[in-house]
Amino acid sequence: MDKKVLITGGSRGIGAACVRKFTECGDKVVFIYRSREEDAKKISEETGAFAIRADLSSPKECIEAVKKVAELMGGIDVLVNNAGIAQFSLFTDITEEDWNRMLAVNLSAPFYLSREAAKLMISEKSGRIINISSMWGITGASCEVHYSAAKAGLIGMTKALSKELGPSGITVNCIAPGVIETEMNAHLKDEDIDALKEATPLCRLGTPDDVASLALYLASDVASFITGQIIAADGGFAV
Ligand code: NAP
Repeated sequence: MDKKVLITGGSRGIGAACVRKFTECGDKVVFIYRSREEDAKKISEETGAFAIRADLSSPKECIEAVKKVAELMGGIDVLVNNAGIAQFSLFTDITEEDWNRMLAVNLSAPFYLSREAAKLMISEKSGRIINISSMWGITGASCEVHYSAAKAGLIGMTKALSKELGPSGITVNCIAPGVIETEMNAHLKDEDIDALKEATPLCRLGTPDDVASLALYLASDVASFITGQIIAADGGFAV
């Protein structure tokens, strides 16, 4: 309640669910989107959250976004590094451009955003950073080597940063979602979806709310002694 929350990738999918959950709890939310202005506008009107546009593959735009958000809200208590991209490609077909873009959005952006937000949180001696990784960052996914590498990097960053920022009263945790029903998986064929459900002990895909509820919990006061953790919301897939 009453926290100042920055959520990246809030225009749809898991990020939009996070925007809804946090605003429902009375938090002040600013979210970042890149291209889907109409979707961002709708979420904004529905929830009262403020939307700003930034391309987080650019370090400059990450840094400027945090500055703008901090000015808008008067600080940042919670940062949810959710924005991400995926690409299905044979390892030998991944280009330098594909690799760099994957790393820029999924790993470097959380670095720049967390670094700038941490400066504000350290001076307050409190804060929460929640990184949205993936179960593929733990297990590795065939034909998603760059995605898996970026998400594994985010897990390493979470663990290291939790140790460095703990003494400043800041927790850093990571959520590793399984297969969640969002546009990111819209390309999957029905038979692929069925196979993924079958491989999931809970026999279904996850919903954006399944992940957003965990993010809300990690940002809440009752989770104040939890840091450096990689928590799966995957229906048991990676067990
Ligand atoms: P999604 O539906 O594809 O939405 C992606 C979000 O990220 C959108 O809001 C998009 O903005 C934003 N975004 C992408 N590139 C950006 C950039 N360069 N700058 C700023 N914003 C950018 O994805 P999702 O399924 O909700 O996934 C959210 C996170 O969960 C990602 O980090 C993803 O890797 C992770 N995850 C997802 C799954 C899954 O099965 N869906 C599983 C494990 C982990 P626009 O709408 O404006 O383009």
